[in-house]
Amino acid sequence: MTSFPAQALRVRDSTLSPQCRLYALRECTLHCAPYGFRATWHHLVVAARIPRRLTDDLDALVRAADELQQARDVVLQRAQEYAALRRREKATGRRTPRMALPWNSWGWSRIAYCPDPEHHPTGSLATVVEAVLDRHDAGISVERHCLVCGIERHRPGRACKTCGVHPDGPAARWRASPVEDRWPRVWHREL
Ligand SMILES: [Zn+2]
Repeated sequence: MTSFPAQALRVRDSTLSPQCRLYALRECTLHCAPYGFRATWHHLVVAARIPRRLTDDLDALVRAADELQQARDVVLQRAQEYAALRRREKATGRRTPRMALPWNSWGWSRIAYCPDPEHHPTGSLATVVEAVLDRHDAGISVERHCLVCGIERHRPGRACKTCGVHPDGPAARWRASPVEDRWPRVWHREL
């Protein structure tokens, strides 16, 4: 698996075959999947309107890559700011205990993991990621509030009824209802 920027270039490269460009988008999504890979993929298919037959609208692949790129920029900036803050704190001898950082997860999937690939937030990825990281920074507990919607959880340990995000992150996938039968349809953009 190569880097996100290299794969994003391949998505935008009109000299490559549509299928190659789709697979490059898949690689990008593996690198940047705030809802987990499957729900992020579903979101991109819907939001960028990626057609079943790729040649019907090849720009859709570029729209999807652009959206991922914007979300990625938000996370990278936060991670850099956090690293700078930690350096300053260490220089002054402060050792602040911190919550687990949501971007320290495979593909960043702990940011807003959705166990059901078809139930995820509807806003742009960058907006959702920003909202989650803002609430995380503000010290709002993921156990008691949905960091996407900001609403209080009435049923702790369950996915948010409104946006589908689960407080347990990717660990929730083992308890979620199986999606294997629905996944091929999502992957092939038969929505
Ligand atoms: Zn929610």
